[in-house]
Amino acid sequence: MSAVRVVNLLTPGYARGRQYDAADITGQVRADLLPRGSNRVPDVSDTDVEELREYALRLRQVFVAVDDGRVDDACEYVNTLLRETRAAPVLTRHDHEPWHLHFHAIDAAWATSWAAPMATALAVVLGNPMFERLGVCTAPSCDRVFVDTSRNGARRFCSTACQNRVKAAAFRARQRSSTGPTG
Ligand SMILES: [Zn+2]
Repeated sequence: MSAVRVVNLLTPGYARGRQYDAADITGQVRADLLPRGSNRVPDVSDTDVEELREYALRLRQVFVAVDDGRVDDACEYVNTLLRETRAAPVLTRHDHEPWHLHFHAIDAAWATSWAAPMATALAVVLGNPMFERLGVCTAPSCDRVFVDTSRNGARRFCSTACQNRVKAAAFRARQRSSTGPTG
């Protein structure tokens, strides 16, 4: 889901055991957020990226609210974003592409053209019995977000990197306790 990618790329905090400052990433944003069906690198400025970061920080609050059990807050945050970004489905055809569905106004600014569909995607999750599947990584020194698409809905980590980190730490702790204080 784009919202996960954008939140994790653009919001500072901790990622997989390290501090993550999300700075100087215009180049990476350009490379990562290609328009659908295109490998044309968009002409995205630092200002565009800062605008998108503002949205990313607010989208992050949706994941955090669900993770904290504040679902009412999460839904209100999403409704506000839907209103502000004027999210609405519209069929469009441009640049010799076939007709396709956008979730943002055709004249939306670049950051808004990303924020509107991301808010829409979160709205779909929150309006569904699976709404609790928005999460924040529980590994130490990590606060990256995820959508749990596993069958049992028991996901706790943003990535296999974090899952492996926690497993390895638990293994080392068991080794220490089984070998005793002199080992
Ligand atoms: Zn993590």
